[in-house]
Amino acid sequence: MKKKTVRNLRAEELRGKRALVRVDFNVPLDDKGQVTDDTRIRASLRTIELLLDRGARVVLLSHLGRPKGKPDPKYSLEPVGRRLQKLIPKKHVCFVESTDTDEAVKSTHDKTCDVVLLENTRFLGGEESNDPRLARGLAELGDVYVNDAFGSAHRAHASTEGIAHHLRPAVAGLLMEVELDYLGQALTDPKRPFIAVLGGAKISGKIDVIENMLPKVDRMVIGGAMACTFFRAMGVETGKSLVELDRVEMARELLKRGKEKLVLPTDAVVAPALEQSNAAHEVARNAIPANEAMFDIGRRSEQAFAEIISAARTVVWNGPMGVFETPPFDHGTQAVAQALAVATDRGATTIVGGGDSAAAVARLGLDARMSHVSTGGGASLEFLEGKTLPGVAALDDRGT
Ligand code: ADP
Ligand code: MG
Repeated sequence: MKKKTVRNLRAEELRGKRALVRVDFNVPLDDKGQVTDDTRIRASLRTIELLLDRGARVVLLSHLGRPKGKPDPKYSLEPVGRRLQKLIPKKHVCFVESTDTDEAVKSTHDKTCDVVLLENTRFLGGEESNDPRLARGLAELGDVYVNDAFGSAHRAHASTEGIAHHLRPAVAGLLMEVELDYLGQALTDPKRPFIAVLGGAKISGKIDVIENMLPKVDRMVIGGAMACTFFRAMGVETGKSLVELDRVEMARELLKRGKEKLVLPTDAVVAPALEQSNAAHEVARNAIPANEAMFDIGRRSEQAFAEIISAARTVVWNGPMGVFETPPFDHGTQAVAQALAVATDRGATTIVGGGDSAAAVARLGLDARMSHVSTGGGASLEFLEGKTLPGVAALDDRGT
């Protein structure tokens, strides 16, 4: 069921009203408390600007880090407020330090503020336990509720889920809408061929993704250390590679079920240890030395994967092909990212989910060449697993 979005709200639902927006401003701070990457702040600007343009005042809720349900200056959103003010210099941003509900409510009625940023929601006991009393209190902070925090939508917290039971309309922001459209379209009605590219360290973290996507895709390409667990299931020696022995049986079962849909690397880049990257060399997958480990896919695999990607009309990529943090083991990840970029140019829909994969794409400067890079690592993973995200389920359905 499609969800209502800010664009479906009527003029009178916004003019002069307080739009309470749950954003994901969980940004990295350095030890001086400066924002080191404002991508997540900028990602919600379109929603904030749309609401301001339509005459609403905007009240923002977000979490930052993992404070334990009580104020901790290390996790204050104050520096985030300063950065937000720089990004929208023509508007007045007010930061409210107090976590007292009455004071917070009062600040939302202050007409001198275009945007009110409230302090970290995780300073409030009851946020993470989704306490209904807190949810009801938070609902007093606005006249409409907008959830633009896709990255937090897989958690049923008071500010992401509970609140929507007390404040309506409850709609998706523009960032949330884009995320749901791309991921939703890929899973329900993809242009074909539809290819999944999966990688990363552990098969155990991705098993539900494999299970959910295998019946939907035309091919599933597997790289990363995950491939080694499949190798083991095929009876291939994997040396010191990362293998999850308790998942070998499951990998065997998937190989049987996936048949020719599953595409595994045919060669590997190996080394005695990660720290010995200067000793890296390529071997066929059935020739991994006993005292070495696979840290990347080999060139023949890169080519084969790129060829499959180049014929795709929809690609979902989750998980790097190797230890991309340590060159030269970033080569396979680079090749896949490049292949996706070329596929995008050709008109394919390319979607990157997963925190490390998104970071890899950003580091290569290729984000703009993907159709969509998800802002939510954990949330996109749960979405691809076919799970309902509680923060999304709580929003109003769009009538037909
Ligand atoms: P994402 O965040 O995109 O979902 P994951 O968290 O599942 O990705 O996996 C990323 C991690 O997998 C990276 O830290 C990377 O170093 C690791 N990895 C990939 N391939 C290998 C490998 N062959 N051996 C060890 N670790 C690997
Ligand atoms: Mg990760």
